[in-house]
Amino acid sequence: MKIAIIGSGAMGSLFGGTLASAGHEVWLYDIWQEHVDKINNDGLVIVAADGEITVRPRATTDSGKIGSAELVIVFVKATTTRKAAEIAATLMGPESVVLTLQNGYGNAEKLAEVVGRERVIAGVTSHGATLLGPGRIKHAGSGETHIGELSGGMNERTRRIAALMTEAGIATTVDGDVVSLIWGKLLVNVGINALTAITGLKNGRLNDHEETRELMRLVVGEAEQVASAAGVKLPYADAFAKVAAVAQATAENKSSMLQDISNDRLTEIDVINGAVVREGERLGIATPVNRVLALLVHALEKRGR
Ligand code: NAD
Repeated sequence: MKIAIIGSGAMGSLFGGTLASAGHEVWLYDIWQEHVDKINNDGLVIVAADGEITVRPRATTDSGKIGSAELVIVFVKATTTRKAAEIAATLMGPESVVLTLQNGYGNAEKLAEVVGRERVIAGVTSHGATLLGPGRIKHAGSGETHIGELSGGMNERTRRIAALMTEAGIATTVDGDVVSLIWGKLLVNVGINALTAITGLKNGRLNDHEETRELMRLVVGEAEQVASAAGVKLPYADAFAKVAAVAQATAENKSSMLQDISNDRLTEIDVINGAVVREGERLGIATPVNRVLALLVHALEKRGR
């Protein structure tokens, strides 16, 4: 299948490289010239616990060179999703679909506004990756990937995409209610990311202090109310227990938002706590704690600018 990846950093390179190694025609699109040149000259190196492989997808900073692709996977950060949607629109053929596995709530909706809801497949992945340098990424953790039609239900094209990803080594299942999974992961990010970014604590430390546990409980409680008002059935019974368990399981990790703040980069706060505030406003649910955390993270983003 002809596959284009928009945003070929850590995750885009991991998925694109893996699909290329399975024989698909993969185009990695990114604005990072040095990364693109390195991949075209020397290949993309994926470092994993059991060694490293070099794969050779095509890479470009000129999306006009790609032509139409049957599958477009968006892996930019949420701050750039709108731009990625406009590029995705230029890669659409009659049967093309756009898949997002980005974190947060709102990315799939932004894509749908530009390419049409019927073309959008969304999901969540437990794979993790980090950028080591131009043309070099680390496959930091494996897990399941779930995808589904944004409009709900099951169909043949989603099954076909899940099958080709699974055959390539990215175990993927199709889910009829992908919005539930997206919110399930969203609440975990809502409970961990902003609090670690503001306090500078590693994930596991949030469980150690009375104050951070209370903040976690408040912020996740608000998000749970918003999910319930939106008619979303969460994939677990006790949201706070789930978030606390994930913080424990990833105790030594610095969350991506903490890393973004430490490196003076913009964060994905607008699709995490910011999304809870927006959806809360739409549904008439007060979300004061999420609002304060989102404002504090935006203030921290401005510190280095
Ligand atoms: P990343 O920063 O490594 O990669 C993003 C890439 O997008 C960069 O290479 C950047 O140059 C590129 N980019 C920026 N603007 C662009 C534009 N206009 N057009 C094309 N490319 C552009 O980020 P990542 O860690 O790969 O994360 C991508 C998404 O996946 C995020 O939503 C993140 O939350 C999600 N995610 C990440 C992980 C992980 O382990 N890294 C796991 C699950 C989900």
